Amino acid sequence: MTEYDYDLFVIGAGSGGVRAARLASELGQRVGIAEEYRIGGTCVIRGCVPKKLLVYGSRYGAEIEDARGFGWTCEALRFDWPALIHNVYREVDRLNGAYTRTLENAGVDRFLIRATIEDPHTVKLADRDQPVSAKYILVATGSHPEMPDVPGKKYLISSNECFQLEALPDSIVIIGAGYIGMEFASIFAGLGVAVTVLYRGDQVLRGFDMDLRDGVAEAMRDRGIDLRMDTNVASIEKEGDGYRVALKDGGAISASLVMAATGRVPNTRELGLQQAGVALGWNGHVVVDEYSKSSVDNIYAVGDVTDRANLTPVAIREATAFVETVFEDKPKAMDYNFIPTAVFSEPEIGTVGLTEEEAREMYRAIDIYKSSFRPMRATISGRDEKVMMKLVIDAETDKVLGFHMLGPDAAEIAQMAAIPLKLGVTKAQLDATTALHPSIAEELVTMRHKWEHPAPIKGSDAAA
Ligand SMILES: Cc1cc2nc3c(=O)[nH]c(=O)nc-3n(C[C@H](O)[C@H](O)[C@H](O)COP(=O)(O)OP(=O)(O)OC[C@H]3O[C@@H](n4cnc5c(N)ncnc54)[C@H](O)[C@@H]3O)c2cc1C
Repeated sequence: MTEYDYDLFVIGAGSGGVRAARLASELGQRVGIAEEYRIGGTCVIRGCVPKKLLVYGSRYGAEIEDARGFGWTCEALRFDWPALIHNVYREVDRLNGAYTRTLENAGVDRFLIRATIEDPHTVKLADRDQPVSAKYILVATGSHPEMPDVPGKKYLISSNECFQLEALPDSIVIIGAGYIGMEFASIFAGLGVAVTVLYRGDQVLRGFDMDLRDGVAEAMRDRGIDLRMDTNVASIEKEGDGYRVALKDGGAISASLVMAATGRVPNTRELGLQQAGVALGWNGHVVVDEYSKSSVDNIYAVGDVTDRANLTPVAIREATAFVETVFEDKPKAMDYNFIPTAVFSEPEIGTVGLTEEEAREMYRAIDIYKSSFRPMRATISGRDEKVMMKLVIDAETDKVLGFHMLGPDAAEIAQMAAIPLKLGVTKAQLDATTALHPSIAEELVTMRHKWEHPAPIKGSDAAA
């Protein structure tokens, strides 16, 4: 006779939860999973995937404009928001179905309802009187947008609602300049919306390399986005069909919509964690050890709810490591070094490894290689765009510590750069790699001059 209903019960069917449930079930464990909204979680339903589709949609306008220089005639350009957003919904529905089938095929019991923890081995499902018992519980409940506490905050939307807009606003104020704020600023601006970004700090994208932060802010301003730093919101009021955002310095901005992109908080409220003895951290995240185990031996947590590196591939890897540790008896800790990251702003950012500022703190001597140039296609399109690429090197070992890029395809290039960086590539090894010409990525292997002796700004005649 088995002691528990399940070997594993997972709360939250997002990136981390679905992966853990499937893998554990495929190993022959009896697995149940509860999801209170839609299977797939943030990434699939209201994060990475629909966001990237909107990013693609928002870039066509400028690309069609640029095509003129290459001989194309494009007349009567018109953008239809309902067409885009309905096509995005369709893809989200397809993925939601695919994730559901994955769980079904793996033999995982699915409960489309909110779950809470009653005690370390008992999970309560909101729609039933009888709780379920489990040997292990995995908390994979993700995070939700944190809304700023200002008068009129009820008028604010978050990224969640951006995916459900029936009409495109004429203008939008975005509060916050982290990666979600920057991405939505670029999406809306690309679709012709007048965008103002308000941020209380002194530069966008806190935590990224300073050259990227400065570069993207300058480029976004050049594209007509009104970025206002050191700016605090006092209140939001209704004004006609739109809103009036009053600023603490006395100014005000009127806009059709106001969005908050001021961070996210772990979903641990009223989950029963503390009563089960699970320790929570300063912002409510589940405190876990390197194997994702909480302060209670049989309760684990992965993904955003642990507030480590809040990215989909990280949640998936943490979930995989959890299954290997607990059900395969192969203790595995996630390695947080060299996680590549992108900001799908316009221009795009791709980055992996240490920023210059971090490396200066951690290493005795570092070398910087930096290059800023006009991409070849801009010579004909006439667009005023620049690419910035930067390498951070440990001067003592020649190891590449960080790669940072601003410009077209930066995310794709950063993903590829992450492989040699993770393997401990040296600058000399990059230099020994033959360039692929003509490409933007070739700059990665052709940067010869340390930043103290900057190379001349290069044009499309880079190979000359
Ligand atoms: C706008 C946006 C854009 C993003 N873009 C990127 C990107 O480009 N690249 C990237 O890597 N990451 C991106 N992210 C982050 C990424 O989506 C998250 O890091 C990832 O989804 C975390 O996975 P998770 O499994 O921890 O949580 P989630 O995917 O959030 O899943 C948690 C699930 O738990 C459910 N849940 C919560 N509480 C309960 C409960 N009590 N009972 C039952 N179910 C519950 C929720 O409904 C949710 O479905 C983005 C996030 C946002 C918001």
